[in-house]
Amino acid sequence: MRIAVLSETDGAETRVSATPETVKKYKSLGADVVVQAGAGIKAGIPDAEFEAAGASIVSSAEDALKDADVVLKVRRPAEGELTGVKPGALVIAIMDPYGQDAALKALADARVSAFAMELMPRITRAQVMDVLSSQANLAGYRAVIDGAAEYGRAMPMMMTAAGTVPAARVFVMGAGVAGLQAIATARRLGAVVTATDVRPAAKEQVESLGAKFIAVEDDEFKQAETAGGYAKEMSDAYKAKQAELVASHIAKQDIVVTTALIPGRPAPKLVSRAMVESMKPGSVIVDLAVERGGNCELAQAGQVVDHNGVKIVGHLNVPGRLAASASSLYAKNLYAFVETLVDKETKALAVKWDDELVKATCLTRDGAIVHTAFQPTA
Ligand code: NAD
Repeated sequence: MRIAVLSETDGAETRVSATPETVKKYKSLGADVVVQAGAGIKAGIPDAEFEAAGASIVSSAEDALKDADVVLKVRRPAEGELTGVKPGALVIAIMDPYGQDAALKALADARVSAFAMELMPRITRAQVMDVLSSQANLAGYRAVIDGAAEYGRAMPMMMTAAGTVPAARVFVMGAGVAGLQAIATARRLGAVVTATDVRPAAKEQVESLGAKFIAVEDDEFKQAETAGGYAKEMSDAYKAKQAELVASHIAKQDIVVTTALIPGRPAPKLVSRAMVESMKPGSVIVDLAVERGGNCELAQAGQVVDHNGVKIVGHLNVPGRLAASASSLYAKNLYAFVETLVDKETKALAVKWDDELVKATCLTRDGAIVHTAFQPTA
């Protein structure tokens, strides 16, 4: 079995899909690992470290792909990136498959079996493969660090001989994996933290981290969680009540971190222009949902916008701003999944196509898009 680790072709991507630690694990699984030269540089892993772990380094993607049975990436391979890949090879990455019919067709046409790691079911067995959690956790942490860096004041209350600095007030919108880590990080830095979500289960989690929960807790709120644990899109009536509550709260906040997402949908708009304009100059909004359209009306992807002195931070690929940590966790998520696809006795690939993890993540196989959620529209 031959595993190829490709460099990321998207210039904004800093992460890498394997580390020397996972290379050693693949080797003990019986695999040969081939790493494209420079793949780990932005994550602080020189080729020599991959080589010392037992990988071979090759100069081009084409050389890495030659005879590869498994191809590992962070992002979905762009058109032409899989040139020379063997039909039937497994390609495993964060595929971002929603609304990407042409890209999925290209993967099917390349006759690879493409797996989207972000579709991994959130069940106990697959926790170790949960890339959404491993990356969102780091993003939540980094959002607070980025917010603190843009905020021209200290976060904790400081009582000094020269006077008292008040604690920053931090409001976290969306208390999933990223939001809960943002709460914990802001608390560690000494902020007074409040948070909101539409899922009732979030209330206890927020409170257990020492933050105050603020939400419209009506009948719709009680039903807002899907069986999969995600948020539903809320009705216009709920959104109006939520906006009213948020409007009065947000004006008093120093740093707002927004993380609200609904699977497969644009991010809900939670912070309007008027809300931004109600905030004090010097306040900061960090919009972690910016890649999905943003929770803040004024957020711009990849930019820090200054609106009347309120900064709105819209960094892209926030986990990639912690490339070494994000790669380390992502690589372990991938290894845990690949391990389930290998027969320990024969040390060959033995994909169980009816396994629920495989069924949930496999997008294409044998020249077709096989995932029921991504069938091409007529
Ligand atoms: P996510 O990234 O899809 O969304 C982030 C948060 O935004 C969620 O908490 C969601 O409820 C919230 N949100 C959506 N619309 C909102 C709105 N209009 N206003 C305010 N908040 C809104 O969520 P996630 O971090 O991926 O977590 C989703 C669920 O999965 C949670 O229940 C989490 O506990 C669960 N989870 C389970 C496992 C596991 O069992 N292995 C692992 C990780 C997460």
